[in-house]
Amino acid sequence: MSHDPNCVFCKIIEGRIPSRKMYEDEDLFGFHDIAPWAPVHFMLVPKRHIASMAQLTPDDAALMGRIMTLAPQLALDNGCSPYPEGGFRVVVNTGAQGGQEVHHLHVHVMGGPRPWLKG
Ligand code: AMP
Repeated sequence: MSHDPNCVFCKIIEGRIPSRKMYEDEDLFGFHDIAPWAPVHFMLVPKRHIASMAQLTPDDAALMGRIMTLAPQLALDNGCSPYPEGGFRVVVNTGAQGGQEVHHLHVHVMGGPRPWLKG
């Protein structure tokens, strides 16, 4: 399914729910987390509805590679300090035991001065 009408992140991507968007291209969407764990906390998601990292196939390698190679620049652009003194954390919660609450694949990017609320 490329789009799930009941998915909160699909609704954000379509602009049907407001978000603090910080990135968009043909395939990807980025927005700040509504309940940040860290001074900088945004998420990068594929526009296509993929429920979780568990559903990825080899055909998604380029898509995921784009997220991982975009994250460092977007982290800097959104307030993280440079590596190695600064840096950022990337998290992909997957499934119930992985702590996933929203079932649309999302890559959390967190950073900024510590302490953080969590993690
Ligand atoms: P996860 O536990 O990995 O599924 O993370 C879901 C994340 O989505 C949480 O950090 C929530 O704070 C965030 N979230 C849920 N709804 C929204 C929303 N409408 N706008 C921005 N972030 C959201």
